[in-house]
Amino acid sequence: MLKIINVEPIVLRIPSLQEKCEWGYDCFLVKVTTNEGIVGYGSSDTNPYAAKGLLMAHDSNFISLGIRDVLIGQNPLEIQKLWDKMYYYSIYYGRKSLAMHVMSAIDIALWDIASQYYKVPIYMLLGGKQHDKIEVYATFEQKLGPVEEDIEEALKIKDLGFKTIKYSIGSYYDYEEDYKRTLAIRKALGDDINLAIDVCSRWKNYTYANRAFKKFSDLNLYFIEEPVAPDDTESYNKLVSTRLSQIAAGENLTGKYEFADFIEKAKPDIIQPDITRCGGISELRKIYENAVMKGCQVIPHDWSTAILISATVQFLAAQKDDVMFEYSMSKSPIFIDLFKNKIDFENGFVSVPDTIGLGLEINEEFVNKYKIEG
Ligand code: MG
Repeated sequence: MLKIINVEPIVLRIPSLQEKCEWGYDCFLVKVTTNEGIVGYGSSDTNPYAAKGLLMAHDSNFISLGIRDVLIGQNPLEIQKLWDKMYYYSIYYGRKSLAMHVMSAIDIALWDIASQYYKVPIYMLLGGKQHDKIEVYATFEQKLGPVEEDIEEALKIKDLGFKTIKYSIGSYYDYEEDYKRTLAIRKALGDDINLAIDVCSRWKNYTYANRAFKKFSDLNLYFIEEPVAPDDTESYNKLVSTRLSQIAAGENLTGKYEFADFIEKAKPDIIQPDITRCGGISELRKIYENAVMKGCQVIPHDWSTAILISATVQFLAAQKDDVMFEYSMSKSPIFIDLFKNKIDFENGFVSVPDTIGLGLEINEEFVNKYKIEG
């Protein structure tokens, strides 16, 4: 029988980026090894030090076990069974957030293993390929310099062929300043580009956000992302009901229950689960189905490793709907060099690869150079 013989958390840190980085100075990677030599990788966009502690925790009592202990000796092909076990035995300290982040990384590694074992792509195990290519949108971050720097970056992304671009704003904590900058970006890009904004929960509360929504309503935005904190569902609901813009959120939510609750109360137009945080491929299947049944579009969040891109592409390839996800513009070496290959975009689309597993080749030299022990 195929058995898990090791689950290794790998924490990477790029010291030269320690001071400030748009994303990607550290990373939580999981390597799952089997007795037959098949190895699966997963990652989570989380706090890697806390995640490592949670994965390696000692058993506390008979229903509070460390995640690694739950997995050793088990059959990695029993993916849902193992997911359910991880959930049950972390119920004291888990169910949401960090435990779900760790479970996401494990779940992705298990799908990687299953695909290699059965020698078919992950999308086949999920029911078959329904897309040969998938649209992606690009995100770029607001800078704290002259707006011309933001405009330059927006135009560079447009030249790469993206039809939808997201401007991540809010660094000034002042929507009037954000508006001036977004207006300048809109003028520079023209009206044939879908322009979205990510507020990163910086519009405080309903009253403040509602004023901002009115101000931004003439910019024909594709969506406004996370105007307020993810738990502030009443404010989301009131903002959605104004119909001043489509509203997207969900990168910080985990698990089917939290998503179902958010969709029910906030009524967002779009949810943005991150497959490395929300519970992995297995849980995203449930989150996705529920969202679609509730008339909500799913546009996954994507701003970390090549694993995140591969897992998202394999998942979306197996969905019947028009699908799209975010493509990271990060310049972090963890995004670019951790694997010797990754799925690249071309003219605003990625092609769905027919690879076995995640189809990524780990760069061992890179891992050894930046791995943090202890
Ligand atoms: Mg965001």
